[in-house]
Amino acid sequence: MQNLPEQFIDRMKKRLGEGFPAFLRAYENPPYKGLRVNTQKISKEEFWAISPIMLEQVPWAENGFYITAEKAGAHPYHFAGLYYLQEPSAMCAAPMLEISAAKHVLDLCAAPGGKTTQIAARMDRGAILVANEIDGSRAKILSQNIERLGIANCAVTNATPKQLVENFPEYFDAILVDAPCSGEGMFKKEPNALTHWSPQNVALCAARQKEILDDAASMLTSGGEIVYSTCTFAEEEDEWQIADFLKRHPEFALLEIKKILPHEERGEGHFAARLKKISHSSLQREAPKIRAYPLRVNAQAEKAYRAFAEDFFVSAPQGAITTLSDGRMYLVPTGMPAFDVRVMRLGVELGEWDGKLIRPAHALAMAFGTHARRKVKLSLEEVKKYLRGETVEAEVENGWCVVFVEEFPLGLGKAVNGTVKNHLPKGLRLVRA
Ligand code: SAM
Repeated sequence: MQNLPEQFIDRMKKRLGEGFPAFLRAYENPPYKGLRVNTQKISKEEFWAISPIMLEQVPWAENGFYITAEKAGAHPYHFAGLYYLQEPSAMCAAPMLEISAAKHVLDLCAAPGGKTTQIAARMDRGAILVANEIDGSRAKILSQNIERLGIANCAVTNATPKQLVENFPEYFDAILVDAPCSGEGMFKKEPNALTHWSPQNVALCAARQKEILDDAASMLTSGGEIVYSTCTFAEEEDEWQIADFLKRHPEFALLEIKKILPHEERGEGHFAARLKKISHSSLQREAPKIRAYPLRVNAQAEKAYRAFAEDFFVSAPQGAITTLSDGRMYLVPTGMPAFDVRVMRLGVELGEWDGKLIRPAHALAMAFGTHARRKVKLSLEEVKKYLRGETVEAEVENGWCVVFVEEFPLGLGKAVNGTVKNHLPKGLRLVRA
């Protein structure tokens, strides 16, 4: 058992009363682990049939399973984006977000992307998802996870909530606020959370959450919904945070609360509250019209990409193209609004133009690889070679191709006379298999 902070023990004893001994005993068990099937790539039933890992249904997440397997992140199916590894109780919040009719959805504190990818799988493909992360290096990981899971209708931004408020007043129909918190439900998984815990930090987190929630409220349309969640047990950050919010925002109603405690349910612990904005506050200004995302692309580069896509795909994905400040071209999701914050990914990255040729992006294989003309399907042993960055042998026409594990794209290769040169990005390769 971990060395739990004394003040934490006192607080929980006071709160849980008779339940406290069972709560404490829960720390003797190893942390729960889970995976969520990415239904953008495979149905739950199909995954169940091919899963190399023992699965047991998580009751509150349709596509979520408990697992005990080690190294589930090293399996080729993980590289192919068939699943996302996520602590089971963390799977409870995203399903509470009402998105069936939502056109614009925001995940405000999104990295590393567990809940973003869960929301994306449930969303109408024609709707827009903005996944934001304030921390640049975490935003990069978020962006990679969105790429791995093949999500095409998402913009990844790296901004403060205040910067987003400037850009998106009363714009989103649904917002997830998975707030930074004191992480009491993470003590087993991330012992770092233990060393950072203190009553002062709980108060600090609560103050920060209050601000984030207020910012979220001002970005929500009338009739829209917010789900607020934390992975902590502290009432200041959970129930009291919501009660305070409702006092400040009479235009909101509380629809539902879920709290998972580790001695009551099979999970490390989570809190989620579903809030609905019933009416405009009289003080709110008229929401300004938001323009379409402005397209900036060199005409020659676009022509070169379109010619590349004609050859690379059996049927090329259609849509508007823009270049971001990183010099790369992206397929912009239809209906993407203009905004002025740092953007890390905008829809699907297509590739780079060097003035002569297109160098296609890994994301292209992950989102649209099943439509590729040249497909290389490898045995499990060869797949491991490919994932380690080695070349593989295959009977395929010369040119850019997509490498598969079974029916699932893993990345790009370039075939020359039966040898497929490896184009899996270096940072994504398997270190040991
Ligand atoms: N939703 C993520 C998932 O399911 O994978 C986990 C999000 S984590 C609980 C909270 C995130 O909030 C962190 O990535 C952190 O960097 C970010 N954060 C920290 N301070 C913030 C702030 N002031 N405003 C918005 N986000 C913040």
